[in-house]
Amino acid sequence: MKTNKKIEKNVPTQVRLKGIVEGYNEEFAGIVDAKGKKYSLRGVLVGEEVEFTADSNGKTTLQKLNSTNPKRVKVTCPIYSKCGGCRLLHLEYKEQLRLKTEVIEKLFGKYTKVKVNECLGMTKPYNYRNKNQVVFRNDPKEKMICGFYQENSHNVIRFNNCLLQDETSDKIVASIKEILIKMHINAYDEDRKYGLVRHVMVKRSFKTKQTLVVIVTANDNLPGRSNFVKAILAKHKEITTIIQNVNSRQTSAVLGDKNIVLYGPGTILDELCGLKFLISTQSFYQINPFQTEVLYTKALDSLNLSQDDVVLDAYSGVGTIGLIASRKVKKVISVELVKDAVTNGITNAKLNNIKNVHFFCDDATKFINNLAMKKEKIDCVIMDPPRKGSDVAFMNAVLKLMPKKVLYISCNPYTQCEDLKLLYDKYVIKYIQPVDMFPHTASIENIITLERKN
Ligand code: SAH
Repeated sequence: MKTNKKIEKNVPTQVRLKGIVEGYNEEFAGIVDAKGKKYSLRGVLVGEEVEFTADSNGKTTLQKLNSTNPKRVKVTCPIYSKCGGCRLLHLEYKEQLRLKTEVIEKLFGKYTKVKVNECLGMTKPYNYRNKNQVVFRNDPKEKMICGFYQENSHNVIRFNNCLLQDETSDKIVASIKEILIKMHINAYDEDRKYGLVRHVMVKRSFKTKQTLVVIVTANDNLPGRSNFVKAILAKHKEITTIIQNVNSRQTSAVLGDKNIVLYGPGTILDELCGLKFLISTQSFYQINPFQTEVLYTKALDSLNLSQDDVVLDAYSGVGTIGLIASRKVKKVISVELVKDAVTNGITNAKLNNIKNVHFFCDDATKFINNLAMKKEKIDCVIMDPPRKGSDVAFMNAVLKLMPKKVLYISCNPYTQCEDLKLLYDKYVIKYIQPVDMFPHTASIENIITLERKN
C-alpha cells in the first residue's frame, strides 16, 4: 500500500534549559548543571547564569546570558562562534593565563609540593602565528571565496583577517584571491572533483621577514604561471619565494608530495634562540616563534646543563631543542620518527656549524630501549611527544637509563601527567612552568623538569 506520509527524518529533538556555569572541561567549555544533568556549553564563564538549548545528539547552543562574569570581554572576531579555534576569546587575557595555571596546579599538585609558576603569556597576544592556511572555494556570487573549514565540517567560513594570524600573510591571501579571479582561474570543487586551487599557505619569519607562499593545486597545470608570479610579487615585495604544491588526492590533508618552485629558493630562514632554521613547505615548525623562544629558554635553563653532559632529545622534530642545547653540552642524540624532519634537522645542524648533534630516524620507544639495553650513559632525557603522549615502554626505558634529569615538554598536560606517574618512585619534580604558546585557544603547553632521587 502506498502512503503519502512523509518519511520522518531523524531530526534531533531539542529542549531549552537554564543553569549556572560551575566549571570547565578540558577544552574550556563551561559545565552547566541543569535539571540534574551536566551539560558542556561553549562560550560561557564560571558563575554565569545561562539559557541554552540541548538536542538529543548532545549538541548545546547558548541562547541567552542572564548574568555575566566580570572577567568577560567583548569579542570582536565575526567568525568566533563558527570557527571554534579561539575557545577563550571572551575571557580577559590575564584570566586565561590564571585558568591555564590552575589546570596545571590541579593536575600536578597531588604529586609535588613544588610551586607551579604562573603561565607565561604574551604582552601582545595577537597575530602570533607564523603560518596561515586558507581554503579556496568557488562561489556563484563572488566567483571565489576563501576561509577556514567550519569545525567538524567541510563548510568554508569566509574571513578577511584572523586575530591570531599575521596581518601581512592575511593580506597576501586576499591579493591572491583577487589575482586568481582576474586570471579566471577557479578553485577546486571537492564534490565535483573539478577546478584547480585548493589552498594557500603563507609561512613567514618574523625575524628575517622572509616569506614563503604556497599555492596548492589539484594538478600540475597553473595557466599563466609567470603572470601570476609577477602579479603577486608586484603587490607584495616581502615575498621571497613562491611554491606550487600539487595535491591531486581526495584527502583532507592540505599538502601533496610534489613541489614546483615558481620563484626564489623554495625555503625561508628563521632565527630562534640565536640559531638559524630552514623552513620548507612541508617541514614541521612551531607556529608561535615569540613563545617558542620563551619555552626553549625556560626549559633548558631549568636543566643546568654542563659541558660533560650527554643528552637524548626524543621526539625531536627538526632538531630545534637539541640543537639549541648542543652549545651547552658534550653530545646530543636526537630521535624522530618522520624522515623529512630528520633530514631538516641535519640541514639545520650544518647551517649552524654544529657537529655534536647526532640524528636518528626511529620510533622513540624502540630507540630508547636499545640505548637502555646497551647501557648507554645518558645524563639527561629531553622528551617532547605529540598530544597523545609517550608510552609505558618509553617511561620504563627511562627508568633503566636512569639519567640525572628528565625534561618533559608537552602540549597536552593530561597525557604528560599520566606518563610522569611512572617516574615518581625514582624521580622528583623540580620545576613546573606552563607557557602560553597559543593565546585564546584551549591549548596549554607545559614544562616539567625532574631530578633523580639519588
Ligand atoms: N621537539 C620538536 C617537535 C615536537 S612535536 C619541537 O619542539 O619542535 C612531536 C614530534 O614527535 C613530531 O615531530 C612527531 O613527528 C614526533 N613523533 C611522533 N611519534 C613519534 C615516535 N613514536 N617516535 C619518535 N618521534 C615521534
